[in-house]
Amino acid sequence: APAAGAAVTESVFVRIPALAARHGAVNLAQGVFDHGPEPVLLDALAAVGGGVEHQYAPSPGHPRLRAALARHVERHDGAAVRPDEEITVTVGATEALHCAITALVRPGSEVLLVEPAYEQYAPVVRSAGGVPRALRLRSARERVTAEELEALVTPATRAIVVNTPWNPLGRALDEQEWRAVAGLAERHGIVVVSDEPYEHLSLDGSPHRGVLAAVPDPELRIKISSVSKTFAATGWRIGWAVAGPELTRRIRAVHQFLTFCPPTPLQLATAAVLDDPGTGGVLERRARELGEKVRGFAADLRGLGLPAETPDCGFFVLADVGEDAEDWCHRMITDAGVAGLPMSVFYSEPVAGTGSIVRFAACKRQETLTEAVRRLGSVL
Ligand code: PMP
Ligand code: GLN
Repeated sequence: APAAGAAVTESVFVRIPALAARHGAVNLAQGVFDHGPEPVLLDALAAVGGGVEHQYAPSPGHPRLRAALARHVERHDGAAVRPDEEITVTVGATEALHCAITALVRPGSEVLLVEPAYEQYAPVVRSAGGVPRALRLRSARERVTAEELEALVTPATRAIVVNTPWNPLGRALDEQEWRAVAGLAERHGIVVVSDEPYEHLSLDGSPHRGVLAAVPDPELRIKISSVSKTFAATGWRIGWAVAGPELTRRIRAVHQFLTFCPPTPLQLATAAVLDDPGTGGVLERRARELGEKVRGFAADLRGLGLPAETPDCGFFVLADVGEDAEDWCHRMITDAGVAGLPMSVFYSEPVAGTGSIVRFAACKRQETLTEAVRRLGSVL
């Protein structure tokens, strides 16, 4: 039998950016910013002291950051959570997802995924000895239904992973979908792992509704988020998991031997940013500016004859390129110098009607997006 993890193939977020770099292509394949973070982060980092702030933090997270996160969660999710027992600070949402899934899955456990799903979920389920079971949606217009979820449940089902706002669909789970997910969790004792790193990137002004609002039982819900997208700081690698005390104990048991803790100076700077009274305004401005940029980029793609959808949230634009998206993306990297990502990478098997969809990450400087549109225009 292969060693655990051996089934994991190279991530598209490793492979495609490397290919793009080799061809000097603009990297719109990856959700990574090509500019600095929100300036409040730099100020907060500069203010971090020069003493024990550079040593290990307690493994669950620096107490100052956990306290700041509890206040942040109270403000934005309307939930009261205890920093000592219900919050774990991790190396990005990536580590939080790994810890959450690993804490829940035993050999033979089944985990429900809703595709298109973020690439990381299924390999982590498998490396823990579990089996992913996917519900598949073809587009942002389709909805997750209680009946379809119910049909996938077996006595081995331990968890469901959802992602709201949804990469790559560019919309949030709606009330009815949340009711379907929450009902399923309660009926079967299934834990809802809710991946919410885009929670502050609502482009149409609608408020975030996450798992803390949708699922009342703290032992049936894990909220995961991070600073990556919220503050344009994917390199900070500060994330967190919020869950009931028993779930948190299990998450921390994985976390302590995986990374022990993320860098303490960055934890402290994050705490200061979250507690800064100006941060609410920063988040609002950021979502507004991103919205303008994303809408403009989608319109530019449409101007090139590519039917592109404007997302409600996040910064991914889906466009139908009218042919096999993998072939198209490959050709655009080599011929136009622009890298997009075929939506097929978010499905575990081909789904009719999705093979020609390309995802573009518009979290770039305006001049980068303008140059990408110019390059695409020169070959389309
Ligand atoms: N989940 C989703 C849906 C993502 O798109 C990403 C990547 N941005 C992550 C998790 C990982 O985020 P982080 O940078 O916090 O590890
Ligand atoms: N989450 C990002 C995306 O969907 C990429 C994550 C990464 O590059 N590790 O593009």
